[in-house]
Amino acid sequence: MRRHRIAAIPADGIGKEVIPAGLEVLRALAERDGGFALDVEDFPWGSDYYRATGRMMPEDGLETLKGFDAIFFGAVGDKDLPDDITLWGLRLKICQGFDQYANIRPTRVLPGLTSPLRAVNPGDIDWVIVRENSEGEYAGHGGRAHRGHPEEIATETAIFTRVGVTRIMRTAFRIAASRPRKLLTVVTKSNAQRHGMVFWDEIAAEVARDFPDVTWDKELVDAMAARMVRKPGSIDTVVATNLHADILSDLAGAVAGSLGVAPTANLDPERRHPSMFEPIHGSAFDIAGKGIANPVATFWTAAMMLEHLGEAPAARRLMTAVEQVCADGVLTADVGGKAMTAEVTAAVVAAIKGANA
Ligand code: NAD
Ligand code: MN
Repeated sequence: MRRHRIAAIPADGIGKEVIPAGLEVLRALAERDGGFALDVEDFPWGSDYYRATGRMMPEDGLETLKGFDAIFFGAVGDKDLPDDITLWGLRLKICQGFDQYANIRPTRVLPGLTSPLRAVNPGDIDWVIVRENSEGEYAGHGGRAHRGHPEEIATETAIFTRVGVTRIMRTAFRIAASRPRKLLTVVTKSNAQRHGMVFWDEIAAEVARDFPDVTWDKELVDAMAARMVRKPGSIDTVVATNLHADILSDLAGAVAGSLGVAPTANLDPERRHPSMFEPIHGSAFDIAGKGIANPVATFWTAAMMLEHLGEAPAARRLMTAVEQVCADGVLTADVGGKAMTAEVTAAVVAAIKGANA
């Protein structure tokens, strides 16, 4: 029996609803498969933990997580706490502490869902956005001077390193090479940003030599936003900086029908540390506690985690079940249905149990 150790961190808001739903589905898959077992440990870290202890997670939290094969994460964010405490105190601490430099964000319009783009039907879009997750515009460099004075200035400096850009570029080319169409679009803004972005373009050309099978092109980020709406079928794999990919992937989630169906993996591709799998969405104050959160993003996230753990057949079985349930119209309100989280979860579990393959 293959055993995988999973650290579950539901954290805040609807994270506490979708992660238990995800674990229920994972248990059904392990049972159905018979070849692997998941040892899940739950960690009650997050904003409630902060209120009780003054920290989002214990001081030795990363040390504790080190021994796991993967982290299954919900969302952080609390109405009564500043976002930088909740985000930097838990989620970013894990991403940065474990150098999870590759943030992988797939987008498809699942059957039964409607894209707000009139001409897009399920199956028309199959994108993977590869987001640089460790440096760039979110490196935290910058400062404020002359506070409160008319001459006050603030700087926000993007940091790009040869190691950082090369490793995300190699990851993106490798992913593009593994996909049927083998297309990669390198997104920059090198017309206006003459240092870091020209550096990206140069390193892309260097790395491309090692991937002769991949057809690649370059696009400026503003033009890319338009292309995602106007020519979505021309896009396959995309690589972009921390900020650019952050923005483009929310657009991608919206194009796919809802943030509630968008998954992501924060990978350490070298597997020195555990990787972290989470839905893209946040804690969603407006719907938390109502039992109506869409669990599909979390299910898709769970499939990415299974794939990472070497359980590809179970990952495929899960996605087939999710697609069947969506196609059957068992949908939450964000995608036009009336089903509760628990109903979608039960339908996916039933589809997993009933599957022949
Ligand atoms: P959000 O993603 O929580 O919600 C945006 C909108 O999408 C809301 O209307 C919400 O109801 C809807 N939505 C999101 N997920 C859904 C789902 N699964 N099913 C149905 N509807 C869904 O973003 P926000 O409102 O900007 O942020 C709320 C809090 O979450 C903030 O504190 C923010 O910092 C935090 N946040 C955390 C993460 C993370 O943990 N990775 C990501 C984004 C935002
Ligand atoms: Mn974002």
